[in-house]
Amino acid sequence: MTDKVTKTDAEWKARLGDLGYEVMRNHGTERPFTHDEFSSAPGTFRCAGCGAPLFSQDDKFDAGCGWPSFTRPQSEAGIGESQDDRYGMRRTEVHCSRCDGHLGHVFPDGPAPTGLRYCINGVALDFVADGEDTPD
Ligand SMILES: [Zn+2]
Repeated sequence: MTDKVTKTDAEWKARLGDLGYEVMRNHGTERPFTHDEFSSAPGTFRCAGCGAPLFSQDDKFDAGCGWPSFTRPQSEAGIGESQDDRYGMRRTEVHCSRCDGHLGHVFPDGPAPTGLRYCINGVALDFVADGEDTPD
């Protein structure tokens, strides 16, 4: 997880598509209810940018907000945080520690046991069911 993934803008666009690029490389936000139709099978949500495992299906919950929501990352080291003061709000931005791709935000209003809600853009995630081959 320590090996950084870096690509040129053109390479990111080719890999992520227009919306994925806007979200992950320009800190955009997809419209709600557009990318939350993932399988509910056991598995892992991986970074759409680099394939790093980020969230487990076990920690996904329905927050009703229209974005995939998780109570915790699969591994603390896989996720980086930064303060986001844009739009006049103080929010905690979360990103993939391996490729620095923007994922979404974490809010302190999630369910037990963590009390956290990782609100993630679905376009930033690739779901891989247990037993399936992993990308990359
Ligand atoms: Zn990544």
